[in-house]
Amino acid sequence: MNCQRCQGMMVEERIFTQQGGSRISRCLLCGDIIDTRVIFNRDRYQIRFHEAEAEKAYQDRLRLSA
Ligand SMILES: [Zn+2]
Repeated sequence: MNCQRCQGMMVEERIFTQQGGSRISRCLLCGDIIDTRVIFNRDRYQIRFHEAEAEKAYQDRLRLSA
């Protein structure tokens, strides 16, 4: 697995937080850390982005039909 930011090599590590143990991937080059929560947040960001795009397209359609 390569880093999404710099394409560097990722290593798997186990971290322990108050919520319990978690498996993460850390980039050896830029230090970017990916865990399931980060991936989840990125997905949410993508969804918000798509919603904004859809809203803009909807507004454009309204303007055209007016
Ligand atoms: Zn990286």
